[in-house]
Amino acid sequence: MTKTPDTAILWLRRDLRLDDNPALVQAMAENERVLPLYIHAPTEEAPWAPGAATHWWLHGSLVALDQALRERGSRLRIATGESLAVLERIAQRTGATRVYWNRLYDPATRARDTHIKLALRARGLRCESSNALLLHEPWEPLTGTGGPYRVFSAYWRKAVLGLDQLTPLPAPIQWRRPPDLDDQESAGIGVDTLDLLPRIRWDQGLAERWQPGETAALAQARRFIDGPLAGYAQGRDLPGKPGTSSLSPHLHFGEIGLRRLLALIRERHGSLAAPAAEVFVRELGWREFAHHLLYHFPHTTAEPLDPRFARFPWHTADAAARLAAWQQGRTGVPLVDAGMRELWHTGWMHNRVRMVVASYLTKNLLLPWQAGAQWFWDTLVDADLAANTLGWQWTAGCGADAAPYFRVFNPIRQGERFDPQGDYVRHWCPELARLPERFIHQPWAAPVAVLRAAAITLGDEYPHPLVDLARSRLEALAAFETIKAT
Ligand SMILES: Cc1cc2nc3c(=O)[nH]c(=O)nc-3n(C[C@H](O)[C@H](O)[C@H](O)COP(=O)(O)OP(=O)(O)OC[C@H]3O[C@@H](n4cnc5c(N)ncnc54)[C@H](O)[C@@H]3O)c2cc1C
Repeated sequence: MTKTPDTAILWLRRDLRLDDNPALVQAMAENERVLPLYIHAPTEEAPWAPGAATHWWLHGSLVALDQALRERGSRLRIATGESLAVLERIAQRTGATRVYWNRLYDPATRARDTHIKLALRARGLRCESSNALLLHEPWEPLTGTGGPYRVFSAYWRKAVLGLDQLTPLPAPIQWRRPPDLDDQESAGIGVDTLDLLPRIRWDQGLAERWQPGETAALAQARRFIDGPLAGYAQGRDLPGKPGTSSLSPHLHFGEIGLRRLLALIRERHGSLAAPAAEVFVRELGWREFAHHLLYHFPHTTAEPLDPRFARFPWHTADAAARLAAWQQGRTGVPLVDAGMRELWHTGWMHNRVRMVVASYLTKNLLLPWQAGAQWFWDTLVDADLAANTLGWQWTAGCGADAAPYFRVFNPIRQGERFDPQGDYVRHWCPELARLPERFIHQPWAAPVAVLRAAAITLGDEYPHPLVDLARSRLEALAAFETIKAT
């Protein structure tokens, strides 16, 4: 490829890394001078502007990216304002004639990016976009009749083909000289100016649990691949043990590329089809499937994929109190409360427990899945529109390949099976720590003497169950009967 002494803007979004970044590689290959730019414009993502926990993550990720760029002789320009206006202004100031970015696929940003591409092209700028987020374009794997998949296993049979051949793109060692910036505005602002960190510092638990940024993402991937990956097939279901990768926020912000992740797995385990790797790579497949669904059914962020659920008779009396108890981890069901407190404290929740708390909200409390999705959106550091929509609709029974509505997760059985000693519950609900194993997942069943010995008075240190699990399950099934026939 011949290089021309040209200037380009590299518009970074949720691809906050230097390694395995196709837009970056293309911009560097085709231009003499490349200006890395981040534009903070959360309202452009409305109604799904990033929540408080993802803002916290973004702050750390931008700081880390700026640091990595400085080590290579550049730095990250940060701007706020309307994205198109900022791009036009900086192009004009720097003489840039090209803009490179990696594609995002959620409905609001897709519409915005299309508009920006057309407007920039009309002004004579060249726009180039690449895929850094997914293994496949969401519109690529299609059924035999050319439509989208609704069943994961069929989707994955097709999407898994060829993954062994994917190779990551290396990070640049030295940055091409950035354009000379002649004034304060085009030099950008500091990360702190974006005000991403909370004023009232509730984020201590997040800071204890996470380290945003590309270096931390790579280190976490290596730790997982060298350790828990070997036992992932069983370990991934145990919330009390670090058996999963904890890569979801890093993947959401694009701090590690999927091609790099797959290459690291191949290096350590020989092939992606190795027993240790296969189950994990399949989970990455669910992430792909989530984007596939969101692309083809963009309305599902707010509406059920199964239209019958639009008329579902959700519980309305005392709904606000029920929702608040669930959000605060005060439902009286230990596994549910442990999960909700883990979420509040760390910005993350184990997948098994996400399914349990989502099932409890939608089926035992009969509250709409949208209310749960919204809470997750604000509190998860990995809040991702595609994965969150899929997870909630799947659990509620109204999405693609969904758990059948009559599958109501029993939080007692789930606890006994996946947290048999109650380690997870004891950690997040310390007031229950002294209960014997037999009652740790159902304190209301413990004799008074046992509760007294464990220093618990139900309704005091720990709440009575908000609803009766068996009765509320039957109510959910009855509610489902009302929409089933149509
Ligand atoms: C109600 C509900 C809401 C959810 N909301 C989100 C969300 O907002 N963001 C999010 O990233 N995940 C979401 N998930 C999926 C899943 O719980 C998380 O991806 C997982 O717990 C992240 O932990 P991990 O990185 O250790 O996962 P691992 O088990 O190590 O999996 C590796 C990666 O595969 C992907 N993945 C795994 N399971 C799923 C899945 N079911 N759907 C989509 N991708 C998956 C994630 O990117 C994950 O990081 C949700 C699940 C449910 C049931």
